[in-house]
Amino acid sequence: MLNQIAGFDAGALRHPRKKTYGVKVGNITVGGGAPIVVQSMTNTDTADVERTLQQTLELAEAGSEIVRWTVNVPEAAAAVPVIKKRLLDAGCNVPIIGDFHYNGHVLLTKYPECAAALDKYRINPGNVGAGQRRDEQFSTICKVAVDQGKPVRIGVNGGSLNQELVMRKMQENTDQNLGKESEEIINDCMVLSALQSTELALESGLRNDQIIISCKTSRPRDLITVYRDLSGKTQQPLHLGLTEAGMGMKGLVWSSASLGVLLADGIGDTIRISLTPKPGGDRREEVYACCELLQALGLRSFSPSVTACPGCGRTTSTTFQELAERTQDYIREMMPTWKTQYDGVETMTLAVMGCIVNGPGESKAANIGISLPGKGDDARRQLRRTGGRVQKAPRRLRKHQVSAQDGRSGRPVNSRDSRLGQ
Ligand code: SF4
Repeated sequence: MLNQIAGFDAGALRHPRKKTYGVKVGNITVGGGAPIVVQSMTNTDTADVERTLQQTLELAEAGSEIVRWTVNVPEAAAAVPVIKKRLLDAGCNVPIIGDFHYNGHVLLTKYPECAAALDKYRINPGNVGAGQRRDEQFSTICKVAVDQGKPVRIGVNGGSLNQELVMRKMQENTDQNLGKESEEIINDCMVLSALQSTELALESGLRNDQIIISCKTSRPRDLITVYRDLSGKTQQPLHLGLTEAGMGMKGLVWSSASLGVLLADGIGDTIRISLTPKPGGDRREEVYACCELLQALGLRSFSPSVTACPGCGRTTSTTFQELAERTQDYIREMMPTWKTQYDGVETMTLAVMGCIVNGPGESKAANIGISLPGKGDDARRQLRRTGGRVQKAPRRLRKHQVSAQDGRSGRPVNSRDSRLGQ
């Protein structure tokens, strides 16, 4: 029999949030004790105004509080103010970040309207040039940010780390016989690059409350090591993300494993989960993943959570999986409306269970619980509302009728819940 580990205290897993400077990014604050911000990035060609506008609206509606655009060529820089205006005309004021590599110093100076329209500039210190020109070009971007009153993110990435710095540290390791593994040196270099770049940004005129830092790697263990180190050495707010996390389940698990540990440590002020979508896949998945992660850790609430059992030999059809999926999809579809109408709706819990074994128990703990009959059970379903009152659902309550019956009006099923102001 498995016993609880002696001395285990689940509550102790969550450390107080690390103190960081608050940075205003458009109308959103990152750090300084503000709620952890969800962000995402479009994968459209930014020069394609219509597609970038559409995807940005979708990401923002899904819950992304900041959206990043690639700004890589003059056509993209020229499109930025146009799309930003269209967003504002559509009533969407989500802050927009410009992602610059190699030519940010050129684009931001040649396209001042782009610089003015963006709410933050992302600079990768490994991709701003080499040698003396690296610092000059990095400084040029910072000075545009100073003139425009915009913050920056110093976004160090393991795949594009400053190679001059890495070579110097490798040599130092050999010369001084420090005995460090190359992995350790690279992790050290990432933190060093972020801190040195922060110093340069400050020397260029930016204030502490205008600088966010990230140090992304593609390996969870390295990410945890790097951010723990970084967090102990700076008070700049930190953007968390496992870079190149990958597709589907792998990307979700690896991102959640690494970001979850750091968030539980109290590290991180804004997150992005970099999932590789399937061809034609839904870009909003990365937003949903961020929201689910923060909600799972009890750090924020975004929408009613759906508890569903995995199913087993007692489930006799796919009805229960379909019901769970439809319930989840329906909540996502309705949340943009519900959150403007029902205060506290995002903290509701629903349970969709495949049989009576765990169904009534889970349902009791939820605001709304639906237990379907499993193999051999009485062929009645149970619908349980807040307060534990049980209602035998009529036999006509089949998979498609639950959401249709209670949802067409746009009202949550448990419209009697006092938190919904009924
Ligand atoms: S609740 Fe019932 S159907 Fe679902 S996993 Fe448990 S025993 Fe199986």
